[in-house]
Amino acid sequence: MAKQLIFLFVLLITLGVFAWTMSRIFSFFNLTKSAFPVRNIGKRINITLKVAIGQSKILRWPFTGLLHALVFWGFMVITFGSFEMVIDGLAGTERVLGTFGIVYDIIIGSGDVFAAIVLIAILVFLARRLFLSIGRFKGEEIKTISKIDANIALTMILLLMVSLLGMNIGYVALHGNNQIGVYPVSQWLAGYITSGMTIYGANIFHEVNWWAHILLIFIFANILPYSKHFHVFTSIPNVFLSRLEPLGYLPNMGNVMNEVKLMMNPEAANVEAPPISRFGVKDVEDTSWKNYADALACTECGRCTAVCPAAITGKKLSPRKIFVDLRARMKEKGPGLIKNGIDYSDNKSLIRDYISEEELWACTTCNACAQECPININHPTLILDMRRYLVMEEAAAPAGLNMMFTNIENNGAPWQRGPEERLEWTESLNA
Ligand code: SF4
Ligand code: SF4
Repeated sequence: MAKQLIFLFVLLITLGVFAWTMSRIFSFFNLTKSAFPVRNIGKRINITLKVAIGQSKILRWPFTGLLHALVFWGFMVITFGSFEMVIDGLAGTERVLGTFGIVYDIIIGSGDVFAAIVLIAILVFLARRLFLSIGRFKGEEIKTISKIDANIALTMILLLMVSLLGMNIGYVALHGNNQIGVYPVSQWLAGYITSGMTIYGANIFHEVNWWAHILLIFIFANILPYSKHFHVFTSIPNVFLSRLEPLGYLPNMGNVMNEVKLMMNPEAANVEAPPISRFGVKDVEDTSWKNYADALACTECGRCTAVCPAAITGKKLSPRKIFVDLRARMKEKGPGLIKNGIDYSDNKSLIRDYISEEELWACTTCNACAQECPININHPTLILDMRRYLVMEEAAAPAGLNMMFTNIENNGAPWQRGPEERLEWTESLNA
């Protein structure tokens, strides 16, 4: 009973802290603007199965992709055992879901094998981060704290797997042939680790690892929201909420469309539309819920920047940085906006204080970043919205573009020639 009470106490603290953190992070969605209606549920489920569960984009990188996919699939199976541990902890039972028989054996046996696979994969990831110089892990936006954060998260996953295997080994040592479930790896390891151990010793070994494992899960769950590994929670929903249009599609601005309709055909326009508060995106309160969801889900893997032609050719643009900056800016300004209202200003903005004009104009809108992102983040739409702000509110486009805009205004075409000169080039053709 004492164990159950202690477990309940720890669980309540864990859930309380987690709920507080989540409510704070998710309250920032109230500051964002609408993006698109979430329709086509069937199509979204298909994308989620393929991209998130099937890890189709991750697997484009054969070695690290396969390791990441194994870690992901391993976590999905192992979560079943974690859920069982919570029930056992509250009810004072042991392996309570063993009543599912063969299904239980398959899931718990797979979890035991996956624990070993995940452990090896994490060792490889840690070695890559600590001893190799990987270009993808570098960049202005990857601060020392991000590197420490990644190493802490990987170490915690490593400890989670060690304690899971330790718990299973202890269980096998305690119960011998009467065990519930199958433990291929732990059974084999038990022959080396717990052979000759007394029942008392095996019990202590099992209890220590049981508590270590569940406490690590609770701590890890509460650290994740402050870490780039928050994608453990956010990546699957983010894939489900992907933009469904073809990648080259750049959405029109609803408020500008409405203004044009008012001019061309007032009957077709929404005359009740609220007044326009901002053209494009200057700061976090101008971004859409999808932009912020993308920022929360970004794993900082750098696959987008690795394929970006602007970044590759030395321009000052990293698509990963756009979302790292948005997340940091929301964390900075979000609390002030919540407290003081949407007109709150701290005399800073996402544009210029975080993302420079040079970065924004370096983008070719080629969509390579969005194509490559393993969780379907769409960078060009946000970059375009920030450019829209610069052009429409500050007339701060590069000189070449300003000339083109003037030509369109005066000549109806991007060239410095009037309509009457437009066909002059055909004269030499004798057509
Ligand atoms: S935007 Fe996508 S590809 Fe780029 S770092 Fe984030 S998760 Fe990786
Ligand atoms: S769309 Fe822009 S940010 Fe993305 S890869 Fe192309 S140039 Fe880079």
